[in-house]
Amino acid sequence: MASTVGFVGLGNMGGPMAINLVKAGHRVLGFDLSEAAMAAHAEAGGEKAVSIGELAAAADVIVTMLPAGKHVRQIYQGEGGILETARPGTLLIDSSTIDVESARVVSKAAEESDMPMVDAPVSGGVAGAAAGTLTFMVGGADSAFEAARPFLEVMGKTIVHAGGAGTGQAAKICNNMLLGISMIGVCEAFVLAEKLGLDAQKLFDISSTASGQCWSLTSYCPVPGPVPSSPANRDYQPGFAAAMMLKDLKLAQEAAGSSGAATPLGAEAASLYALFCNSGGESQDFSGIVKFLRGET
Ligand code: NAD
Repeated sequence: MASTVGFVGLGNMGGPMAINLVKAGHRVLGFDLSEAAMAAHAEAGGEKAVSIGELAAAADVIVTMLPAGKHVRQIYQGEGGILETARPGTLLIDSSTIDVESARVVSKAAEESDMPMVDAPVSGGVAGAAAGTLTFMVGGADSAFEAARPFLEVMGKTIVHAGGAGTGQAAKICNNMLLGISMIGVCEAFVLAEKLGLDAQKLFDISSTASGQCWSLTSYCPVPGPVPSSPANRDYQPGFAAAMMLKDLKLAQEAAGSSGAATPLGAEAASLYALFCNSGGESQDFSGIVKFLRGET
């Protein structure tokens, strides 16, 4: 059934996600601070809203895809924000990657305003957003998850209910902390192999069928050759930018600090990605950290 969807944050991810909702027959009222993003949305068949208030008053469902927790708090809880201007019963879906604490605070405020809400961060990148094949990790009540599912299915392929409010964000940062750590491990193995005179392809052939096997090696190999589709084969053009990985590793460290979890390798991965980003790797693919470990950047 066609709905009126309000979409706030029409950037690299939000832009194509909103267009997939348009293609599915929904009326999509978009809002972004960027004129260019608004123009692209209108060009693709969406409508422009002049304010959050206008968008929220008209919407049955609101999706947000914003940079960080402070933007999400402001758009939902700020003066003239979504919780002040949307009708009770409006379904709220925040797909931004943000800190667990902000996700829980905003979700609680939404509940108090009688608006069901899910945190639904994604993985799959810009290509997945355009193709409608994102993975959504969803936190929230069963009923909110079921209400959100048909909209998430338009924008994604795999939709997982992770648990209560905030657990979507928890899943996202746990997964990406694991990914950051495993990528550094794989890179270190290739750097050591080079020093020891072991051919990279040989290491790949052996480790990909042995106990060192992992996604960072077999699907996203950080050296050119063994996995032709990996960013290493195109001079580390992202893919998934190192700056994004650093953002997620910092979120994981914040969460580890506030929850008391011991994540020493996560902390080390965050420092190494900060050094890589500061040495010019920020907009390269995160697998480019292999160059930093070789001392090349
Ligand atoms: P982006 O910077 O391209 O888009 C964010 C958009 O939000 C921008 O267009 C910006 O103008 C808009 N915005 C900011 N403040 C606003 C406000 N107050 N009102 C209206 N619009 C506002 O970022 P992105 O790459 O689309 O990422 C969005 C979120 O998705 C981030 O949380 C990111 O971590 C997450 N994410 C990104 C990727 C990726 O590959 N790009 C993958 C997974 C998750």
